[in-house]
Amino acid sequence: MKKLLIGVAIVLVVCVAALAQTFRGATLPVTQDVAITLVVPPQVKGVQVSAIYAGQMESLAAFAYRGGSFGDTRIFGMGSILVSHPQGNLLFDTGFGKDVDLHVAKMPLLMRMTTKYKREETVAAQLAQAGVPLTDISRIVLTHAHWDHVSGIPDLAGVQIMTSQEEAQFIESDDPMAALIHGFPDLAIAPLNYREGPYLGFPNSFDVFGDGSVVMVPAPGHTPGSTITFVHTEDNKHYALVGDLVWQKEGIELPAERPWVSRWLVDKDPAAVRGEIVHMHRLQQMWPELVIVPAHDRRVWDTLPRFPAGFVRPAHAEPATAEAAPAASTP
Ligand SMILES: [Zn+2]
Repeated sequence: MKKLLIGVAIVLVVCVAALAQTFRGATLPVTQDVAITLVVPPQVKGVQVSAIYAGQMESLAAFAYRGGSFGDTRIFGMGSILVSHPQGNLLFDTGFGKDVDLHVAKMPLLMRMTTKYKREETVAAQLAQAGVPLTDISRIVLTHAHWDHVSGIPDLAGVQIMTSQEEAQFIESDDPMAALIHGFPDLAIAPLNYREGPYLGFPNSFDVFGDGSVVMVPAPGHTPGSTITFVHTEDNKHYALVGDLVWQKEGIELPAERPWVSRWLVDKDPAAVRGEIVHMHRLQQMWPELVIVPAHDRRVWDTLPRFPAGFVRPAHAEPATAEAAPAASTP
């Protein structure tokens, strides 16, 4: 019996040591296997970015990137990035909606137990308060379809959703990671087509307005159809909306992936995520002015213009129609 107990204790110690090892700081090797050619970005009048905060969660840096500390509590922001353009306004992700309590209650027990969240005013409520009707929003663009990015969709009823074809298939599937959006009724999804050529080292791209100011590229890995969007504003600022490629900016800076347990919980293809993290790390080194915006790093969001102060409604903004909607409406 004593021998058995000692054996069990040894196995436990080995397991705990192995698990601890997966959190140890380890930067990704920066290989140069993809050529990155920088672009000359346009400065299109009326293109602006503003951040709409809509909820938060608390987590430890240790779970966000390898080498993060267990003593370092981070606010994981939820919300939308509003990209305004003379041809239409885009809402990137939706943050927590008014039914977030219900959405959390439907999650698997393990996720529910590890989710400590706080509501903030919803995106829809903040748009309404600022006098921006939903008809002024041309598209909701999903960086990806995980629950914390889509919870606000039902509050924005009638706004068409744009995401990649692969993500649209993920939403249609029975994958539990897409269960929340899968269950929303009357979704209007217009999958985008990466019909333009290579962009900043990514194999293809979709130029949303045809003027180079908002360009989406495929970044599959976290989910099958995750996207990265590059936005170039009228005042010559440059942003990369990377969704959940990393949860905190250190992921790109170091570069470092999520620790094993987080990858196991949330990443479909960790190897693809690693490749894209290194890609964005190299791009950041080549282009220091580029602001890389992880969807949940509130420290980065705090540096962006904040809605509604940073949002100027284009004087000629018309309610979205088929003609006024972005190029994505054409198949
Ligand atoms: Zn996600």
